[in-house]
Amino acid sequence: MKGWRGVIEQYRAFLPVTAKTPVVTLFEGNTPLVPAPRLAEATDARLSVYLKCEGFNPTGSFKDRGMTMAVSKALESGSRAVICASTGNTSASAAAFAARAQIRAFVMVPRGAIALGKLSQAAIHGARVLTVEGNFDQALAIVRQIAETHPVTLVNSVNPFRLEGQKTAAFEIVDQLGRAPDYHLIPVGNAGNITAYWRGYREYHRAGLARELPRMVGFQAAGAAPIYENRVIEEPRTIATAIKIGNPANWGPALEAVKDSRGWVDIVTDEEILGAYRMLAREEGIFMEPASAATVAGLIKSVKAGRFEPGSTLVLTLTGHGLKDPDTALESASRPTTVPARLDAVLAQLGL
Ligand SMILES: *Cc1c(COP(=O)(O)O)cnc(C)c1O
Repeated sequence: MKGWRGVIEQYRAFLPVTAKTPVVTLFEGNTPLVPAPRLAEATDARLSVYLKCEGFNPTGSFKDRGMTMAVSKALESGSRAVICASTGNTSASAAAFAARAQIRAFVMVPRGAIALGKLSQAAIHGARVLTVEGNFDQALAIVRQIAETHPVTLVNSVNPFRLEGQKTAAFEIVDQLGRAPDYHLIPVGNAGNITAYWRGYREYHRAGLARELPRMVGFQAAGAAPIYENRVIEEPRTIATAIKIGNPANWGPALEAVKDSRGWVDIVTDEEILGAYRMLAREEGIFMEPASAATVAGLIKSVKAGRFEPGSTLVLTLTGHGLKDPDTALESASRPTTVPARLDAVLAQLGL
């Protein structure tokens, strides 16, 4: 078969797989790197801005890159079940890849804090979904205990294979752009992805496939900013549920990525996130979920603060698709107007 066959086949040489690893894939990866001229114009026309649209993965988020690795390695080790705690996208991806592998998936989601689309995905793929009366961090503590004492594989980003798969996004960016960007902007929740990208850029650099290394810039929601505030947030709050995390599992490695790359971590408010969310949809035609828009909000804030060298190339990771969270979209835009089925009434409403 010709063409793209998923991130494991594409980047096999950089991944901990052998000829014996049963590859479980939905042909994830190969997502578009889209130029964002209007975003650059609206912020600083001297910047080149590109959007890595990870919402276009098979289950609608970057989690698929990690899940193809985690589920393939789980199968290789003889496991017949996976478990995760999730703000939504991990459970959607785990459920889909478990279905593909014909093994069981158990997912724990925090009550009331998960977008409708994500919940529907876990359900339709046949996962056993439990709504935990608590937050993400509590759910993660429970599944970690279960995985230690029962024959189920933990597929949260504490599973080392997750980050191995996710680092392929950095490889793709270099392959698409012909170089590494000067800055890489990314939302930070459990902090696995920023860690994975930095690893990916460094490995490509070491292999002689990228001459430069980007500065890694992470954005947290103001109400859920443990790394920025340097303290655990007991009750994180933000509309961007995918990054509503108060005690990130990859805290240390993420800080290292930021320090090693001479980057930084900043915060954006929910208001800034929603503004960026609408702007991205209206000005660039790209519909991503609120957590992804945190990156765009971060771009706007950082440009205002004059943090980028003029002439720089920036890549922003847009982590998940907007259709995941239709409620927020409808609340953020004007509602349809109902009209009688008559030409004059329609024309009057359209102002034509
Ligand atoms: C998981 C997720 C994040 C956060 O990624 P981390 O690796 O946990 O920092 C951000 N946005 C979306 C859409 C996600 O699904």
